[in-house]
Amino acid sequence: MYRDTQAIVKLGAIRDNIRQIRASLPASVKLMAVVKADGYGHGDLQTAAAAEQAGADLLAVAYLDEALKLRSKGSRLPILILTPIHPCEASVAVEHDLMVTVTSADWFREMLSCRSIGSPQKLKVHIKLDTGLGRLGLKTKSEWDELVPYLHKGEVEVDGVFTHFATAGRADTDFLLQQYHRFMEMKEWCRSSGIAVHRFHCAGSASALRFPWLAMDMVRIGAAMFGFYQGPLLDHLRLAPALRLSSKLIQAKKLNSGECIGYDNSYMAERDEWIGTVPIGYADGWSQALQGSPMLIDGQRAPIVGKICMDQLMIRLPGRYEAGEEVVLVGRQGDDEITFSELASRIGTVPQEISTALSSRIDRMYWE
Ligand SMILES: *Cc1c(COP(=O)(O)O)cnc(C)c1O
Repeated sequence: MYRDTQAIVKLGAIRDNIRQIRASLPASVKLMAVVKADGYGHGDLQTAAAAEQAGADLLAVAYLDEALKLRSKGSRLPILILTPIHPCEASVAVEHDLMVTVTSADWFREMLSCRSIGSPQKLKVHIKLDTGLGRLGLKTKSEWDELVPYLHKGEVEVDGVFTHFATAGRADTDFLLQQYHRFMEMKEWCRSSGIAVHRFHCAGSASALRFPWLAMDMVRIGAAMFGFYQGPLLDHLRLAPALRLSSKLIQAKKLNSGECIGYDNSYMAERDEWIGTVPIGYADGWSQALQGSPMLIDGQRAPIVGKICMDQLMIRLPGRYEAGEEVVLVGRQGDDEITFSELASRIGTVPQEISTALSSRIDRMYWE
């Protein structure tokens, strides 16, 4: 591509992150690499391949289409689709050897009413239990009892039973433990119903890394493989950010004190200043909420000033620079580094909301 704004994804960093995560967990724990949403914006095929090279045992995505893409490009690992698919599409999952998430007996009823009969392969399911996130999964014993007859059917294989935590990244662990104990109670339902379950799993990145004893049979790792978990709650690992986003100034100009720039005159210079224009905008996923956030130029921080436009934005330069000077939006330059985590905490979100928003207009280049 011809554009100066580009993302470099370091597959070696992803592999190294996965290896560190593996090493921090008991050897028997399986690692499921979560590569939904185009690998958190890093590229699904490439990051799935890197995860596999580093020893991931399974993959997960959110939707059937994402799983079919991985399969059609040659991914051979088991793949779990985390969001329930339409019951009538179960035959597509079976045909491509994909595992599906089931949250109710109704799903099976509907599936059986529309599934083409006689498929020799089993349907592999993971049953989702809601222990407090309130998003997906069955909650009560009676919902479970209703589901059990379907799980005993010969053409169904229960590969997993799982739940998801609501507060794994927070310092206060009370609610997490409450969810864990609820999951333990529900695990007992499985045992007493005589359902053979290959693996129980509950931990995503934050819980798996903070509390390895929660790992059970498998952990589901997304954010951490991309290096999004650093900071106070996790000081025993050195996870490296995998994506560097950079651009180049396309124009630099002097602004006199009192002059405005940007739509709606959104910024006024308080003194004579140098302003640089960078070719990235909200259509690339650089949200207007990032106004005021820094970028690096010549190893120094330069804030975004004025409203972010669709295709460009302006920064206040630390001095005079020429068009063509490199600016780093995410990554290291000189002695300083800007991470998705830093940007996310500035605007009150999570790093993956910013990385997944990077649009396809930004070319991803891959370094082995
Ligand atoms: C996205 C997702 C994960 C991965 O979470 P991270 O915090 O990014 O590791 C795990 N489990 C489920 C159910 C998910 O939807």
